[in-house]
Order: sequence, then structure tokens, then C-alpha cells
Amino acid sequence: MAEGDIKNDEYWRDKLSASEFRICREKGTEPAFTGEYWNCQRAGRYRCRCCAQILFDSQHKYDSGSGWPSFYQPVSTDAIVQTLDTSLGMHRTEICCSACRAHLGHLFSDGPAPTGMRYCVNSASLVLQGNDDEEL
Ligand SMILES: [Zn+2]
Repeated sequence: MAEGDIKNDEYWRDKLSASEFRICREKGTEPAFTGEYWNCQRAGRYRCRCCAQILFDSQHKYDSGSGWPSFYQPVSTDAIVQTLDTSLGMHRTEICCSACRAHLGHLFSDGPAPTGMRYCVNSASLVLQGNDDEEL
């Protein structure tokens, strides 16, 4: 890609599966307890499915019982962009990748210590790079 960081839908449709596109680029949500990582306990770093920016670390992952991968903090506040989501008649905080604006999930304030926050993320928005995996 020669042009800047802004990619169009055509680019993402080519790069992502249909369900990944619906979730990452059209703010979809995968059904609970169906994603690749909701119950995953492997150690490693979770990268953005779209642009590979590192978003979360497995050491901050916990079992929220929600059926989605849940973290109490991102690797860096700079990795995540928060916006108000008023769809479905609710006031929720949407979280996106700061680099490519991929939709990740939502942020809730019912998480565990030390942050009290729950970053509720779609598995389809993430790729786990295990600590034993080769560097990308
Ligand atoms: Zn991204």
C-alpha cells in the first residue's frame, strides 16, 4: 500500500474474511462463546487483525464470563481509541484500534482490579501471537 494509513472497504474486503470484515469494519459483534479466543489462556500478545498493531497482552486477560475475550487494560492507552456508541438505544463506549480504526468491541466499567475496566473484544478483531511463536 503506497497511500498513507487510510484503507478503503475494497482493501479490507480483500484482506479479511466476510465475518471479519463485518465485525472489524462494520462494527459487528460475534456471538458469545463462539470466537477463537474467549476461552484462550495462551500467553502472548494480541494484535489487531487488520493492521497487526499490538493491542492487548495475555497477562491482562481474565475470564469475564461474557463469552468474549476480556482484558482489564490494553498494552497502552495509545493503542486504543474510545468513542461514544449510541446504537441499539444504548450508551456504550466503543473501542477501536488507534492505527487503522478497526472496531474491536466495547469498554465497560465492571472489570476487576486494578483498573475496574472491562475491554470486551471480538476474537475476530484479534490475532494472538504466542510468546513461543516466531516474530512476525
Ligand atoms: Zn488496527
